[in-house]
Amino acid sequence: MTQKGKLFVVGFGPGDFNHITTRVVEVIQESDLIIGYKTYVDLIQDLVTDQTVVSTGMTEEVARAQEAVKQAESGKKVAVISSGDAGVYGMAGLVYEVLVEKGWKEATGVEVEIIPGISAINSCASLLGAPVMHDSCTISLSDHLTPWELIVKRVEAAAQADFVIALYNPRSGRRTRQIVEAQKILLRYRSPETPVGLVKSAYRERQEVIITNLEEMLNHDIGMLTTVIIGNSSTFMYDNKIITPRGYRRKYTLNAEKQTLKAHQRLQKEAEPWALDQETGLIHGNDGASAVGLLTKTLEKKSTSLEMAREALARVTGQSASQQVTSIVQQNIESIFELAVSPGVANKQFTPKQMITLAEVVGERGTMEYTPDHKIILKIPTLEPEAITEKLQAVDFSLSPVGDVLTVKACDFFDGEKAEPIPYADELQRVLGGMEMPKELNIGFNGCGMACYGAVMEDIGIVFRKGKFDLFLGAKPVGRTAHPGQPVAEGIEPDQLVELITNIVDEYKLKAHPNERLFKYFKRAKQIQGYLYQDMAPKIKIEPAPCED
Ligand code: SAH
Repeated sequence: MTQKGKLFVVGFGPGDFNHITTRVVEVIQESDLIIGYKTYVDLIQDLVTDQTVVSTGMTEEVARAQEAVKQAESGKKVAVISSGDAGVYGMAGLVYEVLVEKGWKEATGVEVEIIPGISAINSCASLLGAPVMHDSCTISLSDHLTPWELIVKRVEAAAQADFVIALYNPRSGRRTRQIVEAQKILLRYRSPETPVGLVKSAYRERQEVIITNLEEMLNHDIGMLTTVIIGNSSTFMYDNKIITPRGYRRKYTLNAEKQTLKAHQRLQKEAEPWALDQETGLIHGNDGASAVGLLTKTLEKKSTSLEMAREALARVTGQSASQQVTSIVQQNIESIFELAVSPGVANKQFTPKQMITLAEVVGERGTMEYTPDHKIILKIPTLEPEAITEKLQAVDFSLSPVGDVLTVKACDFFDGEKAEPIPYADELQRVLGGMEMPKELNIGFNGCGMACYGAVMEDIGIVFRKGKFDLFLGAKPVGRTAHPGQPVAEGIEPDQLVELITNIVDEYKLKAHPNERLFKYFKRAKQIQGYLYQDMAPKIKIEPAPCED
């Protein structure tokens, strides 16, 4: 009996030697015959020693698969090669189809081994940053073997469901309209600014990487060897990279319209207003009860009964909602809007109207947290942060961002009776308030020498006295080694105050390390704007005591 052959179906990755797996190298060495599209065979020619090579044209895929099976059945070891992964628009499926047609069974037929490779979605993504990261799909725009109508449906569905999309075969010499149509569909669901990466010949000699966006992508060269990667609604560009966060945990803030949450904020429940197991009591799993719960919950958000009915119908029939409800299934994913409100810098009195407005905008699902610096921090799940800002401003709230920003904390100036320095506090708030800082930075501003609102315990302390200002720098406001700021100047002329403070803040912002609080920076730099550092730390030895103790 003749020796049984073997069929290897090989994906050799994007095209360079470093990204070929060792199993692929072994298999090529082991084979008697290598079969593949000419360009691919050329790409791996350095690996070929004395094997017979059969390279054919692009369109002869079926013939290639048939030949491979025939040769294996006659006792040869045959490697059928594809670029990327053989199981992604490659030869693996075709080889199996030919085998199935012949009634092949694993137990009795020729042995088949599929060797995985790095597909274009992965190799191209790696050159763009981290654009895939989350739920994604690949769509081939080639209507050579797939009806165009079906491709349109897939692009539409993927666009609607907010997948990151990798478009394979986006365009060829004759097929030029497909990518134009695909862009049109995508623009109906995604912002024109959605990041798009165009990678041509990844890890090959003529590699080209272009970072663009959905609106402008067609102004660049896209060809047979390009993969187009389109971000989802939370994908962003940073330093010429495309990055998709690991989820939708994001928020709106006042100083940046939309921000991804920082790593440490991510696992908080409140950052996930859409989750199934929030206080609504909805349960995991897909039994009937929870499905109804989910439906009810989702429907609550729809505004008109017509829209609700359409959505319900789409779900009951299990039919894609695309034709009926296109306009309402666009990405209405709520984000947390986080901001702080107060009646004003000096003003500490809330009006009833303000309190009613607060209750209204925060609603059942938001939170209000009272802080030591006379503010209320709001966290509100919403689609429309601007609407919330407008309502709050309409009742004269002063709004400020939350986080590592500059905050002006003033006293009440004897309930407004000692009002002379108030304009300076307001001016500092106007010029510096809410600015992003390396670490939170508080300016304490007190209207008389009593400094009873604790200005000297803030990062920067300003105390008004006899028509002029005294300045304190570098308090350590918390901990068992807490200490006040060091007095650095007395009798600063009012007209010099804002400029001086601005210079201090600018220096700190420019030179401090990330997360370095002002007192630490002061200690390290030994001076700020010419004011020399003096050690204000307690003079006895204090054991460090973390909060668990
Ligand atoms: N089996 C291959 C895909 C073959 S379909 C894989 O898994 O990657 C051919 C398409 O793949 C091309 O039109 C292009 O969109 C993409 N492609 C393959 N190799 C590529 C490379 N090195 N750089 C960019 N795109 C590539």
